[in-house]
Amino acid sequence: MTLQIEQLHHSFGKKKILSNISFTIENGEFVSILGPSGSGKSTLFHLIGGILKPEQGKIRLNDWDITNENGHLSYMPQNPSLFPWRTVLQNAMLGSELAGKADETKAIELLQKANLGEMIHAYPNQLSGGMKQRVAFVRALLSPQSLICLDEPFSALDSFTKKEMQQWLLKTWEAYDKSILFITHDIEEALFLSDHVILLSINPATVKASIKVPFKRPRDEQLYLSEEFLQWKRKIVEALKE
Ligand code: ADP
Ligand code: MG
Repeated sequence: MTLQIEQLHHSFGKKKILSNISFTIENGEFVSILGPSGSGKSTLFHLIGGILKPEQGKIRLNDWDITNENGHLSYMPQNPSLFPWRTVLQNAMLGSELAGKADETKAIELLQKANLGEMIHAYPNQLSGGMKQRVAFVRALLSPQSLICLDEPFSALDSFTKKEMQQWLLKTWEAYDKSILFITHDIEEALFLSDHVILLSINPATVKASIKVPFKRPRDEQLYLSEEFLQWKRKIVEALKE
């Protein structure tokens, strides 16, 4: 799987939001888009997901032009959007069910790994925010698409839950051959999770820098406290100021 974003431009009315955005996601890579609120990250997501049509530019998946087509990527919006009338298990299986590949055993196994083993027959209104995010992510992992797109999935969580969720996400993802495109405005989160960080400017958003993150995997919370981590954080803060 390779996803290529080629010279995307987008405006709302007369306001230019995205200007000449290009980057590539290689197979199995974890790529973050890091930019301030209002910079156009969700807009970029909607373009990649085929929900919006770009003013200019192309999106290619394995060299196929998928601009303005949806269904090629597994897309997880900021709000986990679980169906209230479906149980946790039924929600987790939705993507694979739609693809005609529902596998209940595997879904239960993944939910157990997500510490949701006790909750598989519960309904979304019985879950905390972090639990809902885990169900949505399990659903994305079980879906057949090889690229998962997540739009600020942890931004509504408190900082403890957020760190737990980041580690859980990495651990779960490392066992899968999937690529991730992760949107965030949190510098530490982008650094901790990613192989690659794409820095966006604002008004309009352009790619300010593309940073290759050198930390080895598996990563754990010790990384947050390391000198190396702080140095990279400083680098990004500087790059964002320029
Ligand atoms: P981010 O996700 O980085 O916070 P968004 O992509 O949501 O940013 O929004 C970028 C800019 O585009 C904001 O100024 C927002 O108000 C504007 N915007 C987003 N969606 C629309 C829309 N459908 N119509 C008009 N303006 C929009
Ligand atoms: Mg957004």
